[in-house]
Amino acid sequence: MLTETKGMMFILSSPSGAGKTTLTKKIAENNKDLAISISHTTRKPRPNEVNGQDYNFVSLEKFNDLIRGNDFYEYAKIFDNYYGTLKKTVNDLLSEGKDVLFDIDWQGTQQLKKIDNLSIVTIFILPPDIKVLRNRLLNRHKGHEQLIEERMNKFNEEVSHWNEYNYVVINDDLNKCYDKILKIIVSEKKGIKINQDSSEIKNKIKELTK
Ligand code: ADP
Ligand code: 5GP
Repeated sequence: MLTETKGMMFILSSPSGAGKTTLTKKIAENNKDLAISISHTTRKPRPNEVNGQDYNFVSLEKFNDLIRGNDFYEYAKIFDNYYGTLKKTVNDLLSEGKDVLFDIDWQGTQQLKKIDNLSIVTIFILPPDIKVLRNRLLNRHKGHEQLIEERMNKFNEEVSHWNEYNYVVINDDLNKCYDKILKIIVSEKKGIKINQDSSEIKNKIKELTK
């Protein structure tokens, strides 16, 4: 269904807790032509996370070796940890004929966009409102109030990068948001861009960052 153009890269970014990990997983689970680029990180695994599946969890020493070896397409420091996309991870998936999904931040997106000959579509996910975002973070990080505040404090800075993305999608109802993203992917695979109502998006950004 998705294979009219070979080897596209779809990047999902968002403020922490808006739902990009949930959405990338749902997209990959339901569309076998799309595979997630599994990042390397120096962050410690969360209780439900599996090494090699959610991330490749590595030491800072190992991460620095990979930087020195020029092994990353992109990497960034986020909330005191390093995160990066290995060239090998992406190239292997593309050579298998897959399209690649990325759950990375705006810093990584900026770096990937500078690389020649990659076919990249960027999607920014927003929460429906701040209260909902806080509740989602509370849910994910029960008992870690400080961690939640750190993420909420970064919200405005992260959202300020929304206009560097091709598309902005609000993750209110998960299935509706999934459908919108899939529509974008299917359309972009056919070389067709979808028009978005920029005034609606600007109003939402204003409301979220006031
Ligand atoms: P991110 O990767 O953007 O930091 P996650 O995908 O981890 O965010 O989602 C944060 C939390 O919100 C998770 O507990 C997830 O299950 C939940 N969540 C994500 N999308 C929705 C949604 N549309 N409705 C309700 N809960 C959601
Ligand atoms: P978390 O620790 O919540 O899984 O992710 C924190 C942030 O790191 C999220 O914004 C996520 O998108 C971003 N991230 C995950 N992997 C990468 C990566 O390989 N590169 C970059 N630049 N960001 C990443």
